[in-house]
Parts: sequence; structure tokens; C-alpha cells
Amino acid sequence: MSLPILGQFDPAFTKIMNEVMVMLRASFQTKNHWAHPIDGTSRAGLEAMIASLIEPGDRMLVPIYGRFGDLFVEIGERYGAEIHTLNCPWGTVFDPEEIIAEIKKVRPKVVALVHGETSTGRMQPLAEVGKACRELDVLLVVDAVATYCGADVRADEWNIDALIGGAQKCLSIPSGIVPLTYNDRVDQVIKRRKKVERGIATDADRLAGSSTPIRSNYFDLSQLQDYWSERRLNHHTEATSMEYALHEGLRLVLEEGLENRFKRHKVNEAALMAGMEAMGLRLFGDPKCKMPTVTCVSVPDGVNADEVRDILLNHFAIEIAGSFGALQGKIWRIGTMGYACREDCVLHVLAGLEAALIRCGAKIDRGKALQAAMDVYVQELAAVEN
Ligand SMILES: *Cc1c(COP(=O)(O)O)cnc(C)c1O
Repeated sequence: MSLPILGQFDPAFTKIMNEVMVMLRASFQTKNHWAHPIDGTSRAGLEAMIASLIEPGDRMLVPIYGRFGDLFVEIGERYGAEIHTLNCPWGTVFDPEEIIAEIKKVRPKVVALVHGETSTGRMQPLAEVGKACRELDVLLVVDAVATYCGADVRADEWNIDALIGGAQKCLSIPSGIVPLTYNDRVDQVIKRRKKVERGIATDADRLAGSSTPIRSNYFDLSQLQDYWSERRLNHHTEATSMEYALHEGLRLVLEEGLENRFKRHKVNEAALMAGMEAMGLRLFGDPKCKMPTVTCVSVPDGVNADEVRDILLNHFAIEIAGSFGALQGKIWRIGTMGYACREDCVLHVLAGLEAALIRCGAKIDRGKALQAAMDVYVQELAAVEN
């Protein structure tokens, strides 16, 4: 990122843009033509997609199993969607059949679904919902901000029409740019709305449901198409230094290999969980749908959640998260994402957490966490060597 800043139309820079598109397709496991970043934080990617798809009055179904489902609702409402929601208790995910039944009932234009709910540490299975959406001709938009490049997310195989990744999570570059991809089904909607805007829409376009232009300028994916195609029509000025970061982050992801990367996240997750359980802590949520990149643990009775976080931050230089709403003060959330998803980090967290909990008077099993975590790494090494 500290390299000299190139002009956005410098061939040296457009080469970087093209390479980013190629690497994005690989990282999203897609053959989609459209795979490019939006300048802004991850929610900019969510908003660009919703702004470009939703026309006032369009039905949008949002199954909510944590805080980021609400974000889809919030954005959808602002673009005039008729929102339908489904809810399930925090700490669980939906049975895909439940979502599919609701899709059949509501017949939405768009289903917006979070893949990994960072607020609860759960991960929603997508393949069955994707298949149903395709059969029922519904567009599936997925927020994979916190799982992208840390857990398997397959755009094509799972029939995800639009997929939004993240930067500062498992890709581990600074926040400020967001990768996304979308297929021809989404492209058709965008192109039709562009024709409406230019006053050249046909009856067929209107019959297909397109009667209003995209309402946002900054998030207009049709304008971004012109910018990210060989035409290179000016839209915004690309954030050069962020683009360097994205290029390098993707290069590292692909050098490691997606399979290896997903495996690394699973191993470190297993070690972290083993350590916390050995300490006598209770993990939060349904283990069957646990997200590998975030581990939620219940705060022991009588312990002040923020006091423990303060000790970790001020004395161990480790930051762990609390949570929101009903879970505030009840759980901690610990990320094992990208660059920080490493053995030394996991062991430091466990050591610090044990010390902090003892300081705060929690009754825990002392001296066991690190050994339990180290056992996981030893077993993993033995399995690899065999
Ligand atoms: C972090 C996160 C977001 C928002 O990302 P920003 O970069 O803060 O805009 C959206 N969805 C999920 C699931 C996230 O974890």
C-alpha cells in the first residue's frame, strides 16, 4: 500500500485491476464475468447490490438469525423494498426447508441471506436454498463478509446469484474495499434498469419488472460495469492503494490455496475450542452450525465481560469482542480470521484469557487450556505426516 500511487487509467494500474478480477473469480469459486471490488467498507458491497436490484415495491425476503440480517432489512427498506422476514433464535440457523417454504409463499424477487453471522458465530447452509431459488427464479444475494477466504463459499455450485465478501476479516487487508461477484441473472436486471434510465427500455424490459433506474449513483453497478470493463468509463477515482492491498491479499490467498486456507481455519478453530472447553468454559450456540472463523463463548456467572476484555487488551495486547442486543455481556466472540488465524495467536489468547479470568475471580480449571490446544496441533501434525 505504500507503493507510489498510479493514475487510474495508467496501463500499469488497469493491469492490476484486470488481475484483481481474475483472482476474485478464483476466490469466489465462480466463472462469473463480473467480479470486482467496490470502494467502501463491506456494507458498501451489500448496498450496491441491493440498490442495483431492488425497485420500489419489489418483495425481498430476509431470514434473520443475527444482527447482520437486520442490516439487509435496513438497506432494503431504504430502496423501497417490501420486506418479509423470517426469524429464528440467536445461536441457531434456519432449516433450509423453512426458508424454501417461505420463498414459495412470498415469491420474492430477492432472498438476502447472511452466510456467516458474526454476531452469533453461526453459519447458514446455502446450497439447498440456492437450488430452490434457481428453480423458482428468485435471486439469491449472500453476505459472506465474515466467511469469504476463511470458510468454503461456492458462488456457482451453490447457485448464489450475488455474493459479497469482506476485506478486513479473513482476507486480512485493511477495511475500505469490498469484493463482490454476480452472475448473468443479476446482470440482466442491471442492464434493464440502465435502459430505463436512458429511456430505451422496451415492453419486454417492463414486463420483466424493470421500470425505474438505479437510484444510487455511487452504487450503480451498471456504471461500475463501464468502469470495470475495457471501456474504462470514469465513474469514481479508484482507490489505488486499497487496490494494491486487495491484489496482494488475493495473491496470498491463492498462493496458500483455498482448500489449505479453509483447513487452517478449521484447525485453529478446533484448538481454540479445545482450550476453552478444557478451561471449563461453555461455548455458545448450536455446534452443528458453528462458523469456523468466529468462536462465541459464554461469560461465566459473576464475571464482568468488559473487565476481562480490558485486561486482555491492556496487558496482553489482545482484542476480543463482546456482542450485541440480548447477548451483550453474555458472550465473548473471538475471531480466528486470515492473518490472525495462527497457532501462536490461539495460544496467546488462551493464556491471556485464563489469566484474566483468574484475576476476575472466575472458577475455572487451571493449567489445562494450553495443553488441550497444543494437543490439537500435535494431532493435526501427525495426521498430515501420515
Ligand atoms: C463485518 C460484517 C459486515 C459489515 O462490514 P463493514 O466492513 O463494517 O461494512 C457485514 N456483514 C457481516 C456478516 C460482517 O461480519
